[in-house]
Amino acid sequence: MKKDILSLTKEELAKEVSPAFRAKQIYQWIYQKYVFEFHKMSNLPKSLRDALANKYDILTMQIVRKEQSRDGSIKYLFACSDGYTVETVLLPMKDAVYDEDGKIVKEAKYTICVSSQVGCKIGCAFCLTAKGGFKRNLKAGEIVEQVLQIKNDNDIAHNRRVNIVYMGMGEPLDNIDNVTKAIKILNDLDGLAIGARRQTISTSGLSHQIEKLGKMNLGVLLAISLHAVDDQLREKLMPINKAYNIESVINAVRNFPIDQRKKVMFEYLVMKDINDDRQSAKKLVKLLNGIKAKVNLIYFNPYPGSPFQRPEDESMERFKSYLNDHGITCTIRQSKGLDISAACGQLKEKTAHDVS
Ligand code: SAH
Ligand code: SF4
Repeated sequence: MKKDILSLTKEELAKEVSPAFRAKQIYQWIYQKYVFEFHKMSNLPKSLRDALANKYDILTMQIVRKEQSRDGSIKYLFACSDGYTVETVLLPMKDAVYDEDGKIVKEAKYTICVSSQVGCKIGCAFCLTAKGGFKRNLKAGEIVEQVLQIKNDNDIAHNRRVNIVYMGMGEPLDNIDNVTKAIKILNDLDGLAIGARRQTISTSGLSHQIEKLGKMNLGVLLAISLHAVDDQLREKLMPINKAYNIESVINAVRNFPIDQRKKVMFEYLVMKDINDDRQSAKKLVKLLNGIKAKVNLIYFNPYPGSPFQRPEDESMERFKSYLNDHGITCTIRQSKGLDISAACGQLKEKTAHDVS
């Protein structure tokens, strides 16, 4: 069986090819010119191209479904080589700005939301990904490939700025080795050159892994899926809270190295009559006391048979105003792509119904 070249850092690749500078050239072909066949890498000697083609695959995943929303976000379903599927979403954050002559003055900005596992072990009550159970970790190359294929599919030039959020399917810190390796590969200046500060890991709160990630000092940003402010409710919503309670998560965040100008993001999925009351907002303010935090409120996105409901707009606004009035930056996540099975796990689910 061939190895997947996308799982190799440039340094690892340099040990496989000689002279070592060939690794840089191969990186540039793949990640900057989007050339996915070795025989087209014209500045490599033919013997090396043949050897690489015998030993490595470049792309290993196939786009099996693609849905475009009216707001411009595009949701992809990728099939891995073993047939398992994962979702990835391209979110245009800002449109390009043009001057009177039609020239671009500001480039459009993109965020790519990637998956880190097939399924998830954490089993949150509100999450569709959890329903399918856990299948396997994604390899570093499969994480990198989601970004590479989406940039290529949308003709996004290699030097265009994109942000990465690990908020697709799976718990990234439950696959920390492959995720941190992917972060380094995405970082490479001869490759996609996506700085760690433009990559955000979202976690359900595996405290010991947050500590471990902090010690690696990669410079990545951290987002915590908090969703509840007392342990009783959080345990019901997120069983992981029995192993790592709110206090342990907050302590891990306090120890996490974070850029002076940056903040830790706390995600708060709002469910009607569950966690949308004033008392919760009040407790949240207390909990975040002394932390450089910003809060992102997310509308619960219902799916057939889901046990929770989407909150009222007024309660979202009230919650947000309370936090803002008490000195905490709070935004409401504009649910991009509401018309395209928005939250994670939902495109996959739809496809399963379609084929059955
Ligand atoms: N496992 C990690 C990262 C991916 S979870 C974590 O939990 O942080 C993906 C994101 O989808 C999380 O922010 C989660 O809150 C959100 N999500 C899950 N189910 C949702 C739903 N039904 N509606 C809206 N957001 C949902
Ligand atoms: Fe896993 Fe995140 Fe879904 Fe929870 S919300 S089940 S941690 S993917």
